[in-house]
Amino acid sequence: MPLYDYCCPQGHLFEQLAAIADRAQQACPACGQTSDKIPSRISLGGQANPGRPADMMPQTWRGTYEGNPEYTGQLRREWSKRRKLEEKHPELRGDQRPVHAHEGRYHAKPLRAGDPLPTPRGTDT
Ligand SMILES: [Zn+2]
Repeated sequence: MPLYDYCCPQGHLFEQLAAIADRAQQACPACGQTSDKIPSRISLGGQANPGRPADMMPQTWRGTYEGNPEYTGQLRREWSKRRKLEEKHPELRGDQRPVHAHEGRYHAKPLRAGDPLPTPRGTDT
């Protein structure tokens, strides 16, 4: 049986397990008056899903199933939720420095702006 929230005419709030059939009204446990169901709170199960950080998102065209509209729509929703969360909790943002080109001849270059340059081969002792 699902759990519903009720409010009686006296203003007592209570939760009550109720069958779908008689969920509309229940007796208040405090004063016994008929109480109306109020809209349920949205259950977050204790914790909201924070979504993926930026660097866990697909980074390539192939990673989005070649732009599958359903998948990219889902990503967009996930990402806008994540951005709102990061506005409130900047510590979730992670490394915000831009990522340099890192393929081909840039392979050995620093990945992010500000990373130390790699030691050139043969010069370390
Ligand atoms: Zn009451």
